[in-house]
Amino acid sequence: MYYVGIDLGGTNIAVGVCNEEYKIIARAKSNTNLPRSYGEICVDMARLTREAVAQAGLTMADVEFIGIGSPGAVNPDTKVVEFANNLGFFNAPIGTLMEELTGKEVFIENDANAAAYGEAVAGAAQGTNSSVTVTLGTGVGGGIVLNGKVFSGFNHFGAELGHTVIVRGGRECSCGRAGCWEAYASASALIYQTKIAMIKHPESEMWSVVNHDIGAVNGRTAFDAMRLGDRVGKEVVDKYIDYIACGIANMVNIFQPEVLCIGGGISKEGETLLAPIRKVVAEQTYGRYSEKQPRVLAAKLGDDAGIIGAAFLGRSVKNN
Ligand SMILES: [Zn+2]
Repeated sequence: MYYVGIDLGGTNIAVGVCNEEYKIIARAKSNTNLPRSYGEICVDMARLTREAVAQAGLTMADVEFIGIGSPGAVNPDTKVVEFANNLGFFNAPIGTLMEELTGKEVFIENDANAAAYGEAVAGAAQGTNSSVTVTLGTGVGGGIVLNGKVFSGFNHFGAELGHTVIVRGGRECSCGRAGCWEAYASASALIYQTKIAMIKHPESEMWSVVNHDIGAVNGRTAFDAMRLGDRVGKEVVDKYIDYIACGIANMVNIFQPEVLCIGGGISKEGETLLAPIRKVVAEQTYGRYSEKQPRVLAAKLGDDAGIIGAAFLGRSVKNN
């Protein structure tokens, strides 16, 4: 059989048809074109599903089920997106509407949870029963898979790993708290930390890396300057990785997952990022004397994690 995964984002709707080997064999995509009603967006998602299925040389009869990863507070039981500020959704019953439009069983989940499930079934955590995926992007996204099932708390607002405080009374976070992990370890936080260091250090190579345009700073700037031998760039990177590692060690202490997977653009730094995090986990976590140690790995599926995870959500639910 085949499985359709839909990654519903504020900018794009990306649809993929997956085979039993978790590979995407056909795709369809369009702009989300906000602001629009959830009904119009569902009509588009159903059309894109049919397009992708046809492109794969299949018919809807070949599709076992459909899954959707959506931003916001998503209730997989009622199939309702209870709230998604970037989509303008408030109690949007997209799951049942998609079932009416496609004639298929539809599963929905928060997008970060869907991506974590993707890494668990087909990515860096494939073959494990328990994994935690952390995505370092605009925010710090998180997803938890326990015993082969997505875990998001009894009301589905859980797994907000980025909104655990690592600096009491620290930087303000978009969630209303201060000192959240996200405010220190997201890519946006790194950009902020880089700019502050540049302003304090006009001699830093980071300036030449961005051609003296501070608006051009991105998540690679400090890493690139460090590779050029820049002391200030290295300080920014070391401090940033220390913030990430602090939160990762917390996650390991809580979950002791078989795999802790780190995704997002920054994870492309590979061992530069992972080696110091592994050192902190090995030296500071409570379980450090256990023979069994969690593995800290870079996420494997990139942007496809959301589609692949969504496509197989039905299995997470049926594992129940
Ligand atoms: Zn927060």
